[in-house]
Amino acid sequence: MIYDVIVVGGGPAGMTAALYALRNGKSVLVIEKEGFGGQITHSPRVENFPGTAVMSGNEFADRLFDQIVGQGAEFEIETVSQIVDGPVKTVKTEEGTEHEGRTVILATGVKHRMLGLEGEVDLVGEGISFCAVCDGDFYKGKTVCMAGGGNSALQEAILLAGKCEKVIILQDLPQLTGEVKLQEVLNRQSNVEVHTGVRIIGLETDNGEFCGVRTRDNATGEETIYTADGLFVAIGLIPENDAFAALADLDVRGYFDTDEYCVTKTPGIYVAGDCRRKNVRQLTTAVADGATAALAACRFIDEQ
Ligand SMILES: Cc1cc2nc3c(=O)[nH]c(=O)nc-3n(C[C@H](O)[C@H](O)[C@H](O)COP(=O)(O)OP(=O)(O)OC[C@H]3O[C@@H](n4cnc5c(N)ncnc54)[C@H](O)[C@@H]3O)c2cc1C
Repeated sequence: MIYDVIVVGGGPAGMTAALYALRNGKSVLVIEKEGFGGQITHSPRVENFPGTAVMSGNEFADRLFDQIVGQGAEFEIETVSQIVDGPVKTVKTEEGTEHEGRTVILATGVKHRMLGLEGEVDLVGEGISFCAVCDGDFYKGKTVCMAGGGNSALQEAILLAGKCEKVIILQDLPQLTGEVKLQEVLNRQSNVEVHTGVRIIGLETDNGEFCGVRTRDNATGEETIYTADGLFVAIGLIPENDAFAALADLDVRGYFDTDEYCVTKTPGIYVAGDCRRKNVRQLTTAVADGATAALAACRFIDEQ
């Protein structure tokens, strides 16, 4: 079968793209390598999706998945490894299967770089967060640590300083690397403590609940425990787009180099969501891209 639209990635952007293509009468296959829902499934409470006061990330993912399957989307759990361009595009997977589509929407998202510590994965969404905009309110009046010292970490720390009792920045380099202007704003916050040249070497838990971090000073080797209610990690995002670089240009950081029109240099190939160059990576911006990319793909098919 030749699908009208093949979506690579079953996160919010990919599933929204599927929804809009289905609503336009197109046949759709969504290929997801891990679990439908993407990053948001790590969030126990989402409180900033317009029109929905509160929901868990899993609830959001399940509802969206049910919605697209109910409208006729087909899906596969496979990892897409290559796309061969042509009048019909061939989508190849690591599992050895091939799928054919008139258009392809790449919605591969990002991975948050992690610290690589024991127990870290299990504490994501349960003490460890990657997003102050999303999760900052859960730590109102509490103490949090921030891993990182670049622009993202400083922006997140400034935001958290307005909500939390105390923010402790832990940076493994000898100095903060974020913009001077951001550092100036940060220095004006009376409730922010900055420790540079320290590496987080362990997570402290009490009955399985996150309660702090253990650090080691790079110069002296001295170990310190910082008690905290939460740990925000801002040490980089990892886009996973290299396999598709021949079809869609990447910027220096590995994101698809497109604007909000979501088109690429290859006719019939579109990108959507966190995987593309953008300033704000949130559910709202991901689903917006999904709709934009799908409608562009539908127009392309209708004009053929
Ligand atoms: C802990 C946490 C909490 C968050 N909380 C909020 C919040 O409260 N509010 C908010 O607005 N945003 C929140 N976000 C951000 C939000 O989750 C993302 O902006 C959104 O999920 C981006 O959607 P996406 O579809 O572009 O990418 P993703 O969610 O990253 O989905 C991409 C999907 O593509 C799949 N994929 C990648 N490569 C391949 C391949 N080669 N083959 C097949 N599949 C592939 C991945 O497995 C993944 O499922 C949070 C993020 C995290 C990590």
